[in-house]
Amino acid sequence: MTGWTPIAEEAERATRVLHPSAPFPRPTRRRMLTVANQKGGVGKTTSAVNLAAAMALNGLRVLVIDLDPQGNASTALGVEHRSGTPSIYEALLGEVSLADAAVVSDQSHNLYCVPATIDLAGAEIELVSMTAREARLKEALTAEALDQISPDYVFIDCPPSLGLLTVNAMVAAEEVFIPIQCEYYALEGLSQLLNNIELVQGHLNRNLWVSTILLTMYDGRTKLADQVTAEVRRHFGDTVLKTVIPRSVKVSEAPGFGQTVLAYDPGSRGALSYLDAAREMAERGAAKEEVAK
Ligand code: ADP
Ligand code: MG
Repeated sequence: MTGWTPIAEEAERATRVLHPSAPFPRPTRRRMLTVANQKGGVGKTTSAVNLAAAMALNGLRVLVIDLDPQGNASTALGVEHRSGTPSIYEALLGEVSLADAAVVSDQSHNLYCVPATIDLAGAEIELVSMTAREARLKEALTAEALDQISPDYVFIDCPPSLGLLTVNAMVAAEEVFIPIQCEYYALEGLSQLLNNIELVQGHLNRNLWVSTILLTMYDGRTKLADQVTAEVRRHFGDTVLKTVIPRSVKVSEAPGFGQTVLAYDPGSRGALSYLDAAREMAERGAAKEEVAK
């Protein structure tokens, strides 16, 4: 793009985001991903909603399950989540069907969200005394509920802890998606997360595996970001997506408008990088041998 003005470059990016040339390939079977990292602020919610929106804009059907009482994913998708709204909380208790709690996001008719309300804050404790407490989400994700929404991809946005809600997500899904922030303490706490995943594998969900790692909030001006990137790639190899998400003000502004960055500023680098990351995931999902481990 040499010789292009910044505005022309931005317009070109917006065109690529808003007018996709070819739809993303559909996965060979439905993919369900738990977006987990017990550290807060690493980009779990941002990645879940923006990847979901990118896929939906490109013809895939996507469901985002907000499993964080903060309800940040619901906010970013412009979905109502006041206390009392039918939400993931009622679905976990078995009071409403997951399909009845799901709403279409105004960002795309292909994009559904089961919101989280503040009521979910009590669930971590309430679940303790329930039967099959680790499998409530799995049970809520009935074939009937999933058939009604019929998503190609399901993203479960976890709270920043390794408590019972995150365990529920790991029991319900087959894949774990880990966002890693390109910062000094990025790898700290990761071994604890991996240990927990192993425990769930051993006792509750033999099919669970870490399928995808995404590097987020990359700041090209710092040497540190490159060191972290290299370190993560050395440890995790091809699990790490080639696309890296840059730190971008537009990405952080978007939720304040109840939007994903793809809707808020489709010409931004943040929007394009989430589009690229989503395409990479979709292409992997369509290549059977990758998903089959
Ligand atoms: P988590 O869900 O892991 O707690 P979030 O996705 O909410 O993390 O991100 C934490 C904060 O960082 C939010 O304010 C978000 O808007 C901001 N943020 C996330 N990704 C980026 C990015 N690529 N560039 C700039 N800010 C970002
Ligand atoms: Mg979050």
